[in-house]
Order: sequence, then structure tokens, then C-alpha cells
Amino acid sequence: VIAVLAGGVGAARFLAGLVRVVDPAEVTAIVNVADDLELHGLHISPDLDTVTYTLARQIDPERGWGLSSETWQAMETLRRLGGATWFNLGDRDLGTHLYRTHRLHEGADLSTVTAEIAKGWGVGLRLLPATNDRLRTMVTLADDGSEVGFQEYFVERRHGVAVSAVRFEGADEAEAGPGTIDAIEQASAVVIAPSNPLVSIAPVLALHEVRRAVESRRADTVAVSPIIAGRALKGPADRLLVELGHEPSVVGVARLYAPLAATLVIDEADHELADRVRAEGVDCLVTRTVMTDATAAAELASRVIGANR
Ligand code: GDP
Ligand code: CA
Repeated sequence: VIAVLAGGVGAARFLAGLVRVVDPAEVTAIVNVADDLELHGLHISPDLDTVTYTLARQIDPERGWGLSSETWQAMETLRRLGGATWFNLGDRDLGTHLYRTHRLHEGADLSTVTAEIAKGWGVGLRLLPATNDRLRTMVTLADDGSEVGFQEYFVERRHGVAVSAVRFEGADEAEAGPGTIDAIEQASAVVIAPSNPLVSIAPVLALHEVRRAVESRRADTVAVSPIIAGRALKGPADRLLVELGHEPSVVGVARLYAPLAATLVIDEADHELADRVRAEGVDCLVTRTVMTDATAAAELASRVIGANR
């Protein structure tokens, strides 16, 4: 089994590539749930859904989130009624949230419901929420020192405001989700997907058992840098690195992951930084890491799983 620590879009693309080069039954993704939110009484799990919809080949290719051929009638109704409209929920997508919320109310845990939803969408790999317990990324805004939930920062404020701190509420009490630690311990390789290190991967690693398990597999762990030539391909990873005191480059990523991963995969665009990455104590593999299409993602996945052999 290959165990993959995953956030949303970057991880989803990587996983779609990985299942082209290994049997999906041999892949376990351990997915961030600290972006989850409750809205309109619904439990929404954006990263789990991004991974599920991408692997089901139902993701909207332009937006990178939500379902293709989506319609927005429910949002129109909410607008008419003066309901909360800052977080877009498509009509097709709503069915997933209705199902998840109902099953959770019935007493099923998030792992069980996630497996049901993945099966329903025809996803072959194993999708595990990082935890079944409440874990929430909370973001302090530099402007006024106020603290908001992750989606209020990311979606409502379009990650356009400076951040002074991030914390993961519930991390000390939360248990790692069922199957996650076994998957990490028994995997032939552990991969840290090219996801935002500070708000997608960090909350997964904030679960003490997960961090310890990955540290114990350091020799077999490969991380893929989401930062290419000093920039995130999408989202605020580059700005967050700077705002939270890290170097916004593959060297900064290497520093974050050095205790966890023996190898960091960086893009060809950063080949001149390979020696500085190695100076952080990690092996460095330089390859094409921009997943422009499924073939590019599969090639990257193939390099990543070959990295430690
Ligand atoms: P989110 O939860 O949807 O924001 O997604 P993630 O945290 O999984 O992904 C965001 C990160 O993925 C950003 O830092 C991007 O730079 C990175 N990313 C997206 N696509 C690619 C890609 O094709 N290659 C690499 N190396 N990183 C990518
Ligand atoms: Ca996310």
C-alpha cells in the first residue's frame, strides 16, 4: 500500500496520476478535514469532496473544485431569502452534503460515510479522513488580530488578507482516523502530496499519532513540493509561507518536511536549489511536477514512488 497525506486540489491531481500507475486498491489517501465547515446545518468536507470528485472524473476542470455541469439554483433561492451565500454549493454537489449530514446524524462516523460516498462515486482507492473528531483550522488575520475559520479566510475573504497565525483547534484531543496509523505504518511508501504545507498537510500532522507515525517512516517518505519557482500554482501557499516566517521556496518546504521525509521532489524550474535542499538534510529529486494533465500527473506519481527504490 502507498499511503498519501492529502489536502485538496494538488493532492487530488496527484492521486489521479497515482491510480494510473498503481492499482487503486493499493492506495490509501489520508485526507485533511480541518477545512470542514458546518453551513445551513450541513457538514461540508471540501478536501474529501475535491479528492472524491477528481478521482470520479467529475470535478469541474475550470474551477478545480465542485462538480462539472453544475447548476446553482439552490444558491439563487438562498440569495432571494437572504441566507448565507458566501460559500458556493452547487445543486449536484448538495446531494453529497445532504447524504453526509444525514448519515452523521444517524450516528455513522465520518470514516464510514466517506467510504460510502467514495463508493457511490465509483472511487477505487481508500479515502480516510485524517480524523473522525472535530479538527478546525483557525486563522488569525494580521489586520485586526481577529480569528476566523479557515473557509471564512479562504473563500469569504478570497485569501486576500494577510495572516499572522494559524492553529488547529481540537488537534490535541483528536484521535487519528480509523485505519490511518496502520496505513502509514504498513505502507511500502508514504507520500506527502503537493498540497499547501501550512493549511492542508500541517493539520493532518497536527494529529500527534499521525506525525509520530510519519516520522517513524521517514526513510520511506517522499514529499512533493507544491511550491514551484517560489510560487504556489494556485492558492495562498506562497504568501502564507512568508507571512508565517518561512522561506517561500523549495528550501522552505524542505525545512518543514526534513523531520518527516527522506526525499523532496522539486520541479525542474528549481533545479538550481537542489543543493540547498540537500543541505537541509533531505535527498532531492528534480523532475517535472506541474500536473497539466493526467499523463503529467501519472509521470510525476511514477517518479515519486520510484524515488526511494
Ligand atoms: P486545496 O485544499 O484545494 O487548496 O488544495 P491543496 O492544499 O491540496 O493544494 C494547493 C497547493 O497545491 C498549492 O500550493 C499548489 O501550488 C499545489 N499544486 C496544485 N497543482 C499542482 C501541480 O500540478 N504540481 C505541484 N507541484 N503542485 C500543485
Ligand atoms: Ca483545502
